[in-house]
Amino acid sequence: NRKPKIVILGAGYGGMMTASRLKKANAHQDADITLVNKHNYHYQTTWLHEPAAGTLHHDRTRMKIDSVIDTNKIQFIKDAVVKINKEEKKVVLEKSELDYDYLVIGLGSEPETFGIPGVKEHAFSIRSVNSVRLIREHIEYMFANYNKQEEKQEDLLTFVVAGAGFTGIEFVGELTERIPELCEEYDIDRKKVKIISVEAAPTALPGFDEELVEYAMNHLESKGVQFKINTPIKEVQDGVVLLADGTEIKSQTIVWTTGIRGSSIVDDAGFETMRGRVKVEKDLRAPGHDDVFIIGDCALIINEEINRPYPPTAQIAIQQAYTCAKNLKALVAGKTELEEFKPDIKGTVASLGGKEAIGLVGDKKIYGHSASAVKKLIDNRYLYMLGGMPLVLKKGKLNLF
Ligand code: FAD
Ligand code: NAD
Repeated sequence: NRKPKIVILGAGYGGMMTASRLKKANAHQDADITLVNKHNYHYQTTWLHEPAAGTLHHDRTRMKIDSVIDTNKIQFIKDAVVKINKEEKKVVLEKSELDYDYLVIGLGSEPETFGIPGVKEHAFSIRSVNSVRLIREHIEYMFANYNKQEEKQEDLLTFVVAGAGFTGIEFVGELTERIPELCEEYDIDRKKVKIISVEAAPTALPGFDEELVEYAMNHLESKGVQFKINTPIKEVQDGVVLLADGTEIKSQTIVWTTGIRGSSIVDDAGFETMRGRVKVEKDLRAPGHDDVFIIGDCALIINEEINRPYPPTAQIAIQQAYTCAKNLKALVAGKTELEEFKPDIKGTVASLGGKEAIGLVGDKKIYGHSASAVKKLIDNRYLYMLGGMPLVLKKGKLNLF
C-alpha cells in the first residue's frame, strides 16, 4: 500500500508552518511529504523593508530550511515551480516533475502594477532577499555617485516610494533611519536628500485608524519625509515618475509598493482567480479541487462582517497553515470531515523606523516605543513558533527598547 504524497509549494510563512505542523503531528508516518522552494532558505517577508533600506543585514531575515525542518521526515527540494497541472496532479519544476495526491500552494505574492507603464522596467520592489539586497546596494551607489558628478544631480538623492500602504510606510520609516547614516558616510548634507511618499488615496494607510495614521504621518514628516497624497502615479520612465496631476518627479530610485497580487503560477494553472488569488472554500481547498489547498497570499478569504476580503497578511498565512496541516492529517488518516478556517485577527502593528511604531492590538491603540517593542515581540513570536528559543536567540530582535 503506497503512502499518499503531499507536496507543499513555497517555503514562506504558509508553506513552512504547514510543513512544521505536519511533522509535529507525525503525518510523515502516514504520507510522503515534500516541500519545494526556489531557495534553500526561508525568509521572513514581513522584515524585508529593513534590509531594503540597509538597517538590518538580510541574513537576519533568512535561515536555511534544513536548519528548521527535519529533512529526514519532510523531503526538501530546492527548485522553482514552473507550472501546476491540476488535471494530471503534477507539478513541473525547473529541473524535475512531481506528482501528488494532495497539493498545498503557498507561493506568496507578486507586486501589483495595475498595468502602469514602466513599473516593471524602472522600479524596484520589496519582495525577496534578492530584490531588497539590490535596493540597498542601489541606494548606496546613488550616494557614492553623487559626489562623483561635477554638476550635482539631485535626482540621485531623490527617493520615491510609490504607495503609502503598510509596506510603503514601513520602508519610508527605515529610510529615515538609514539616510542620515549614509549622509554622514558620504559627506552629504541631509537637506539635499528627498524621501517622497506618493499615495493615490486621500490619506496614507487608507482604511486604518485615523488617529494612528496622523501620528505616523506627523512622525515621518518630522524626519523629513514629504507626502504627496491624493496623487496617483500614472507612469514611470527611466529616471522620472509621472503623476496624474501632470507633475513629474525626477528620481533614480523608485520603489514600488502599491500592493500585491497572488503568484502568477496560480493564474496560469487555470484556477478562477481575483488578482492572482483563489477564493478558497472554508476548509482552504480550491473550489472543485478537493486535493488542492491554497494558503497565504495566493488565497482569498472574505471577512463576512464587512463582506470584503481580508488583507493578505503573514498573520493569516500562519493561522491557515495550522488548519491546512490539520486537514491534511485528517485526509491521510482516511477522514472526510475537515476543519473550517476561522481567522483570529489579533491586530496590526507597523514600524516607522528606529524605535517608533503604531498599532492596533484588539481595540487598543499603541504608539511609539511600546508599539515598537510589541512589533519586535511579534517578530520573535514567529521565530519561536518555527524553531523554539534557539531560533529566537539566533535571529530574533532581542533589543526590545
Ligand atoms: P511568502 O511568505 O511571501 O512566501 C512565499 C514563498 O514562496 C517564498 O519563500 C518564495 O521564495 C517561494 N516561491 C515563490 N515563487 C516560487 C516558485 N515559483 N517556486 C518555488 N518557490 C517559490 N503581514 C503581517 O501579518 N504582519 C506584518 O507586520 C507584515 N509586514 C510586512 C512587511 C513587508 C515589507 C511586506 C512586503 C509584507 C508584510 N506583511 C505582513 C505581509 C506578509 O509578508 C505576507 O502576507 C506573507 O508573507 C504571506 O505569506 P505566504 O506564505 O503566502 O508567502
Ligand atoms: P496595500 O494594498 O496595503 O497598499 C498599497 C497602497 O498603494 C494603497 O494605499 C494604494 O492606495 C496605493 N496605490 C495604489 N496604486 C497607486 C498609484 N498608482 N499611485 C500611488 N499610490 C497607489 O499594499 P502593501 O502595503 O504592499 O501591503 C500588502 C499586504 O501586506 C497588505 O495586506 C498589508 O496589510 C500587508 N502588510 C502588513 C504590514 C503590517 O501589518 N505591519 C506591513 C506591510 C504589509
